[in-house]
Amino acid sequence: MTANVEQLEFQAEARQLLDLMIHSVYSNKDSFLRELISNASDALDKLRIEAFRNKDLEVDTSDLHIEIETDKDARTLTVRDNGIGMSRDEVVELIGTLAKSGTGELRQQLREAKNAAASEELIGQFGIGFYSTFMVADKVELLTRKAGENNATRWVSSGDGTYTVETVDDAPQGTSVTLHLKPEDAEDQLHDYTSEWKIRELVKKYSDFIAWPIRMQVERRTPPAEEGGEETVTVETQTLNSMKALWAKSQDEVSEDEYKEFYKHIAHAWDEPLEVITMKAEGTFEYQALLFIPSHAPFDLFTRDAKTGVQLYVKRVFVMGDCDELVPSYLRFIKGVVDAQDMSLNVSREILQQDRQVTAIRRRLTKKVLSAIKDMQSSRPDDYRKFWTQFGAVLKEGLMSDFENQDTILRVSSFASTHSDEELTTLADYVGRMKEGQKQIFYATGQTRDQLRKSPHLEAFKAKGYEVLLLTDPVDELWVGAVSEFDGKPLQSVAKGEVDLDSEEEKKAHEAEREEAEREFADLLSWLKDVLGEHVKEVRLSTRLTESPACLVTDAFGITPALARMYRASGQTVPVGKRILELNPKHPLITGLQQAQKSRPADDPSLKESAELLYGTALLAEGDVPEDPAKFASLLAQRLAGTV
Ligand code: ADP
Ligand code: MG
Repeated sequence: MTANVEQLEFQAEARQLLDLMIHSVYSNKDSFLRELISNASDALDKLRIEAFRNKDLEVDTSDLHIEIETDKDARTLTVRDNGIGMSRDEVVELIGTLAKSGTGELRQQLREAKNAAASEELIGQFGIGFYSTFMVADKVELLTRKAGENNATRWVSSGDGTYTVETVDDAPQGTSVTLHLKPEDAEDQLHDYTSEWKIRELVKKYSDFIAWPIRMQVERRTPPAEEGGEETVTVETQTLNSMKALWAKSQDEVSEDEYKEFYKHIAHAWDEPLEVITMKAEGTFEYQALLFIPSHAPFDLFTRDAKTGVQLYVKRVFVMGDCDELVPSYLRFIKGVVDAQDMSLNVSREILQQDRQVTAIRRRLTKKVLSAIKDMQSSRPDDYRKFWTQFGAVLKEGLMSDFENQDTILRVSSFASTHSDEELTTLADYVGRMKEGQKQIFYATGQTRDQLRKSPHLEAFKAKGYEVLLLTDPVDELWVGAVSEFDGKPLQSVAKGEVDLDSEEEKKAHEAEREEAEREFADLLSWLKDVLGEHVKEVRLSTRLTESPACLVTDAFGITPALARMYRASGQTVPVGKRILELNPKHPLITGLQQAQKSRPADDPSLKESAELLYGTALLAEGDVPEDPAKFASLLAQRLAGTV
């Protein structure tokens, strides 16, 4: 080995994925070619845009293309492009590591995946790009020279944990990837990747729409002109793909498979789209769009740097990927292409942000996507459910940021509720089931549905037969504050403000009873307020409890503890609002405490401890922890010791 050749190790995650590839858990081996062509096509897009922006870059862009070459005897397959290429550092960075975010999670899930089928599904979800070559090759060589650089880099690996990189001085600009095909596929007609027909078939099937010519040299045999004469063999170069931009065609001219493959290419995905949305705008701003709703959420959907998957083209020419300006952030799961007619190829992100045309496109696309979701909801409920499980939590972010479409988003949203343990409900259905005289839509927010179902806050609602929405996504804490009503019905938290579920008659009937209780418990309430003053701002009798002794509620406009936690997690300070402790005057613990408080001296330590325990229990019941858990536990243990 010369000093120039360096042997390096794959990053741990990358090694694990390679291992899976070599043992080929993924049954569709053919997809490696799609991945190579997709990378080559990206590299050509990048070079064209770079050459356009950087006039000093000395490159020939007059014949950008992809070439496929096979050698039956050597059993190799090469995919070559004259695109942007990579520097030595880039090769190490891009090929030696898995740069994709969410890789850690993928690894974790792979470890937990029970069987091959489960790992396969994960691979399918994640997509593995370049590494898929190891499904069919036992050695892969990559030779690349970056546009504008003199030196090239050769990268070689057998996928066994290490690879070598070497700087070489003569190589054409661009990248070529040579696969040394596994011997076991040699006899297998279906997987002979040196066969011209196989390559033709795969290109047609997976990569027909690629905007660059994919060429191959083919032998043409002409039968002898006269008997006994010689067969003539000529070699000619053919372009294997039609290069038609799918978004420029109408939907009935394109097959479902073509859309699927195109989706996989632009989304760098291995799953299938749940929905295809096409759009053509004529008039002042002319553009075409082809958008997809994926069937699986990417691993990084909720990380801060989650990117939009929409590409901007101008008159068929790729301009930029991840074009965040074209769709609002709550639709960041959308993948696709927007092709605008009158925009400069030179357009920058800064310009896009202020561009009127972009604003107009974004508004139209948003409406179009939302209406596609609405259609799906009414005509393909199973697909809609899949969609909602994957992307519902993201879509709900729009309730806070897109007031223009808030009502539509509310209509296409669904929620868990006390109405059913399995099925989610829409708000329209909820409203349809509202009890006579019910004016509000009730909801509870918390960590899990189970926890919420058992929450003390829900007791009176359950007892009286009112349906309550159970909201458990972190974003739910936020949007409920931004939505004032649905269909004229305000939203009301079961844990906020006072609850009034009695009818007028019931109210009359209970009035005397209530006044009596107020008098009876007045001393206990004011004593508890003194003792628990540092935790709660008020102690009152509850109308929402039927089984539990106590619960904590927030003011009608107060910040809930969960919301405060979220703000704090994002680095914002919020005032710690004290809450209200509500007591159930019918519960033996409360009546017992009342008796004890009456008969014992006010500074009795065990009485004070009871108050602490009561408060701690109310916190526990809503899934929170007492402020001093150790103290709470020891108080409780002492009490139990007295009763066992
Ligand atoms: P992805 O395409 O999803 O980013 P890949 O594993 O397919 O993931 O490729 C990893 C990276 O390697 C690409 O993002 C690109 O930067 C680089 N790369 C791969 N193939 C080429 C190529 N033919 N020319 C230039 N860069 C390439
Ligand atoms: Mg790729």
